[in-house]
Amino acid sequence: METQTLVQPQDEHNRLLVENVHPAGWKNPEPAPMYNLVVIGAGTAGLVTAAGAAGLGAKVALIERHLLGGDCLNVGCVPSKGIIRASRAAHDVRTAEAFGLRPGKDISIDFGKAMERMRLIRAGISAHDSAQRFSKELGVDLFFGNAKFIGPDSIAVGDEHLRFKKAAICTGARAAAPEIPGIEEAGYLTNENVFALTEFPERLAVIGGGPIACELAQAFARMGSRVFLLERGGQVLPREEGDAAAIVRTALVQDGVALRLRTKILRAGIKGGEKFISIEEDGKTTELLIDQILIGVGRVPNVGGLDLEKAGIVYDPRQGVTVNERLQTSNPRVYAAGDVCSAYKFTHLADAHARIVIANALFMARQSTSTLVVPWCTFTDPEVAHVGMYEKEARDKGMDVLTLTVPLSDVDRALLDGETEGFARVLLKKGGDTILGATIVARHAGEMINELSLAMTAGLGLSTIGKTIHPYPTQAEAVKKLADAYNRTRLTPFVKKLLTSWFKWQRKGK
Ligand SMILES: Cc1cc2nc3c(=O)[nH]c(=O)nc-3n(C[C@H](O)[C@H](O)[C@H](O)COP(=O)(O)OP(=O)(O)OC[C@H]3O[C@@H](n4cnc5c(N)ncnc54)[C@H](O)[C@@H]3O)c2cc1C
Repeated sequence: METQTLVQPQDEHNRLLVENVHPAGWKNPEPAPMYNLVVIGAGTAGLVTAAGAAGLGAKVALIERHLLGGDCLNVGCVPSKGIIRASRAAHDVRTAEAFGLRPGKDISIDFGKAMERMRLIRAGISAHDSAQRFSKELGVDLFFGNAKFIGPDSIAVGDEHLRFKKAAICTGARAAAPEIPGIEEAGYLTNENVFALTEFPERLAVIGGGPIACELAQAFARMGSRVFLLERGGQVLPREEGDAAAIVRTALVQDGVALRLRTKILRAGIKGGEKFISIEEDGKTTELLIDQILIGVGRVPNVGGLDLEKAGIVYDPRQGVTVNERLQTSNPRVYAAGDVCSAYKFTHLADAHARIVIANALFMARQSTSTLVVPWCTFTDPEVAHVGMYEKEARDKGMDVLTLTVPLSDVDRALLDGETEGFARVLLKKGGDTILGATIVARHAGEMINELSLAMTAGLGLSTIGKTIHPYPTQAEAVKKLADAYNRTRLTPFVKKLLTSWFKWQRKGK
């Protein structure tokens, strides 16, 4: 593919992006006779692995078939959060009357400008992932092309053969293809092309109810699209607890998203020049006319075309490359990191994997993924952030647990901000303050969860958070209030009786 046409639209920002992440006329280097590490895929997992290994003095080759930065930079976290920010601004203006402002009812958003802002920021961020930085500053041998194994210790990219002591498969994942009759004919968007839109979709059908679908459904609705969110299950964000997901569901509906849960999609197509989706809900068939269809029904790992068999690497087309907890594949020379081998597909986890791979592959360490404390966040408004176990999961394992929940309506700052929809929840091992998991639903839940993740990583109990002074008024006080709630559980009727007697005795003294 011509590099100029790699990213659409071709404006100055995307030209800068491509110049950084897949420069035109790039000449692959002459391969070294042997590499300490060959990394396939230059998304977060591959970039962090390559940069870390090269920084420590290893001879590293990095192979990317498309764009450095992978999904996160180009078609994932970065552009999605860019447009979510624009949509949040629109929402804030629309709801500003509650704060005494009179912005006018009919605010409109300049979609072109909002998308351009996103492209400008993405291009700026891309300098960090650039070919220039990796090849010149970090000394990585950077190859553009499709990588595949040709033996247990060698990889081909184009006509070049790269021999390695160790290799890392960091090829990520892609949007799962929808199994809907007629969808190919109708045409659809995925995360691969939705951020390239220049024409505003007045009517948008979002298929799926997971994090990506909910984030984008809300963003487009707030930017003024008529959004239909079609989910076959009975809950959005099915991984989250019911009451957390219900808050997001209410927010989506308030933003004007037409939520269709327990919906079966019968077919899609084009009729009279218009796209349609026909759905079945409660035994009734309805036809929705839309301008665009956005698919967000899950991610599948990129394992095809790598000739993994030639290197003796076991994989599953749906689960990805099979690894042990040290991220080693069935070929002991080869490791994997990030979305290609993980059920949890997050940038920060890909980053954490990369650090484990560097230690284990290059230094014979035995670092394990089993000790990782992995938080995540869905960036709807309010956000839903989670770390560790859910209550159901703990109970299913037969654990005796205590769950404490503080509603945001008990937090002064949330009241002042008008952001009381949400809660902070912690799951403790019964009989102590050991934190097993936590969920926060709040406008900035992704920021607030970090305190609990730190406590879990460092083995600090909830009481330590209770002893930590939190600035007043902040929404993070919700987390401190969880500690106060825990302390109150320790005040049993017996302890209270003892204390009452003691105070009584004190009053009698001189
Ligand atoms: C819309 C969207 C929003 C998201 N938002 C968030 C978020 O807010 N927070 C978060 O933590 N995560 C988010 N994610 C997930 C995040 O983007 C991924 O978890 C992350 O990109 C995984 O990094 P990776 O390196 O494993 O894979 P990728 O980023 O997919 O990189 C893999 C790279 O390998 C290359 N490759 C594949 N096969 C070959 C081959 N044979 N030869 C050479 N190169 C190859 C690909 O071209 C790609 O560049 C989001 C994802 C999407 C789609």
